[in-house]
Amino acid sequence: MADKPKTLRAMRDAVAAGDCSGEELVTEALERIDADTHNAFITVDAEGARAAARAADAERAAGRAGPLAGLPMAHKDIFCTDGLKTSCGSRMLDSFVAPYDATVVERMAGAGLVNLGKTNMDEFAMGSSNETSYYGPVRNPWDPQAVPGGSSGGSAAAVAAGLVPGTTGTDTGGSIRQPAALCGVTGLKPTYGRVSRWGMIAFASSLDQAGPMARTAEDCALLLGAMAGFDERDSTSLQEPVPDYTEGLGRSLEGLRIGLPKEYFGSGLDAGTARALEAAIEEFRGLGAEIREVSLPHAELAVPTYYVIAPAECSSNLSRFDGVRYGHRCQDPEDLEDLYKRSRGEGFGDEVKRRVMVGTYALSAGYFDAYYLKAQRMRRLIKNDFMAAFEEVDLLLGPTAPGPAFNIGEKTDPVSMYLSDIYTIAANLAGLPAMSVPAGLVDGRPVGLQLIGNYFDEPGLLNAAHRYQQVTDWHQRVAPGATANGEGA
Ligand code: GLN
Repeated sequence: MADKPKTLRAMRDAVAAGDCSGEELVTEALERIDADTHNAFITVDAEGARAAARAADAERAAGRAGPLAGLPMAHKDIFCTDGLKTSCGSRMLDSFVAPYDATVVERMAGAGLVNLGKTNMDEFAMGSSNETSYYGPVRNPWDPQAVPGGSSGGSAAAVAAGLVPGTTGTDTGGSIRQPAALCGVTGLKPTYGRVSRWGMIAFASSLDQAGPMARTAEDCALLLGAMAGFDERDSTSLQEPVPDYTEGLGRSLEGLRIGLPKEYFGSGLDAGTARALEAAIEEFRGLGAEIREVSLPHAELAVPTYYVIAPAECSSNLSRFDGVRYGHRCQDPEDLEDLYKRSRGEGFGDEVKRRVMVGTYALSAGYFDAYYLKAQRMRRLIKNDFMAAFEEVDLLLGPTAPGPAFNIGEKTDPVSMYLSDIYTIAANLAGLPAMSVPAGLVDGRPVGLQLIGNYFDEPGLLNAAHRYQQVTDWHQRVAPGATANGEGA
């Protein structure tokens, strides 16, 4: 059997002990990516990565390197990378090379992390299966017939396949947590405003948030520390100091009040997933947590609210892709109107077009009050539910997704796809931090448990997840499709 894929923490310790260099780790990771068959990457930057690893090793030799220097990772292809293609999973940006780095990219590189390339994703982050990518579907390392989830499907699959120990993702309605659940990895969507959105291609700006994906909560803590912080270039980024997220991991959960939203355990939940969650709840009880039922009475409004707000914001954000300044441009336009129409018609896929049309309709004069304004009111009710729940409990626990991964090609109806996010969307609407943690296998496919915390309680979420991972081994299970990893490290 292949060695267990190494965690970021293990790689950090190995490099610190002088057991291996960053360049060795990066070279091995590049070999694994080369041999991999899951279509997890859109672009691999072997040359840039090797050079960055060598530079990190030199910094370390000079005593100037931070603890993460030289360690391999990869970015979702939604983050702008200076000189390296940023496609956002779309034909529209197939030839787009950004002239600057996103803040997240810049910060992580500043910490010495080495970006190996850009991971596959649903087009413009719209999707729950990675099937809307212009670059083809990603395969789930647990079963090549299965989707990896989406939209950060490549980032989840890259970790599950053991290619890199950590990746970035973005989560507008579940796109970090749902693929983390379906691929058996750990993912964290931070509080809205915790991580800068500057240079991250916008989908729905009031919901989008970047976060880490890795094998363990501890690795997510390491990555989040390198990503988070105020950025004056993002007006929604918050002036809140960044704690050391690894500090205090392992604190007792004695007396921690965990709420189970009763609406999240209803008839829509797959039986195997429900059983996995019951076992997880017992583990938390064993760790000293007090478990009680709570209610989020407006939970069923989350999906309809999101599918007005997200398309409305997307129709506005995506209006910049018009074939004039950048992105796909049609051949020989007859006039400006033809240029717009054909560039957008050719550059966008069906799901993106559907969202733009729905969003434009919802915002149009005469319908604005009935849809957009009403959705904003529902959004407030959803937030208020959470605020009431956090009066009674410290964290909420429920499923991440309604069931394990479905098969590629299985969901053809958009609404059935949208329902994949039924448990994740509300945290985005409220702006709350939330995590997905591996919690079991159903017929060989992973399921995740979701933890939702109060604003800026990333430390509480990470600690609960870490304690759970100290007493369970779901996060250590190796996907059958994982590449051998670890020799020499
Ligand atoms: N699946 C949801 C959608 O398609 C969420 C996507 C996301 O979080 N980026 O909108």
